[in-house]
Amino acid sequence: MLWSADRTPDGSMAGGEPEHARRYALLGVRPCDLAAIAVLDRVLTGGRYADPVYAGRRDGNLVIAVECTEPGAVCFCASMGTGPHADARFDLAMTETADDQGHRFLIRAGTPAGSEILAELPVRAAGDADIAGAARAVADAATRMTRSLPANELPELLAASRESAHWDDVASRCLTCGNCTMVCPTCFCTTTEDVTDLTGDHAERWRRWDSCFDLDFTHLHGGSVRASGQARYRQWITHKLGTWHDQFGSSGCVGCGRCIAWCPAGIDITREVAALSALQRAGDAPDDGTGR
Ligand code: SF4
Ligand code: SF4
Repeated sequence: MLWSADRTPDGSMAGGEPEHARRYALLGVRPCDLAAIAVLDRVLTGGRYADPVYAGRRDGNLVIAVECTEPGAVCFCASMGTGPHADARFDLAMTETADDQGHRFLIRAGTPAGSEILAELPVRAAGDADIAGAARAVADAATRMTRSLPANELPELLAASRESAHWDDVASRCLTCGNCTMVCPTCFCTTTEDVTDLTGDHAERWRRWDSCFDLDFTHLHGGSVRASGQARYRQWITHKLGTWHDQFGSSGCVGCGRCIAWCPAGIDITREVAALSALQRAGDAPDDGTGR
């Protein structure tokens, strides 16, 4: 809730106290999620439109990360440079190892708060072999990922694909359900909703998740700017992988693979990019001037 107000006995309105941000401990944060938090920090606290609600919630977060030694089937963080090694933005980072020496976790602190916690835990100092073994397990995980996105060239590819025939193909499969935006750790679009109770004496303003796949997302007088599924999928992937670089200085994708895992139509961002790339190489359909 962003704001609330109540009607006072004399008929005027009194604003409620803003909600105080709670402190959160984020447990089991994967390296791609650490990268996503960095993206959100840049977007929501780093620019002209800083978000005090987000900043209040981030302030004082405790982050306990877990490096990946076994990639999921949809992961491609290695190709995005966002994992599976955790290199910053955590208080504690854990790496699970299991070998003939037994099952154990290597834990390292990234901040003074993390060091304080570590000092309270019943741990033993890690040996060189423990550290090397954990690093090897994480490096091996990177080699077992079966998906990837090309590191560079994506902004150019998406810009050149603006009128690609491929958008019709994706739209024939995409349900425009918005699942991909709901699970993406870097999608940050929200809307606001005002509600009153039945008496009309109490009003609240809530911030709700929104999605660029929602028809109302771009509704202006006269209708939605992106009325077709083609236009909405193109907008999502072009912003995520292309124009995000211009706006925020990095990709909007951290390679977590959740949009692939949760798409009910089996649409895979890495395969769509590969298809666009192949079409570009083959000389995609020319701009038909419709600006679809
Ligand atoms: S989750 Fe899949 S079907 Fe749903 S909007 Fe995203 S790409 Fe389309
Ligand atoms: S676009 Fe897909 S793979 Fe990339 S960060 Fe979002 S959910 Fe993860």
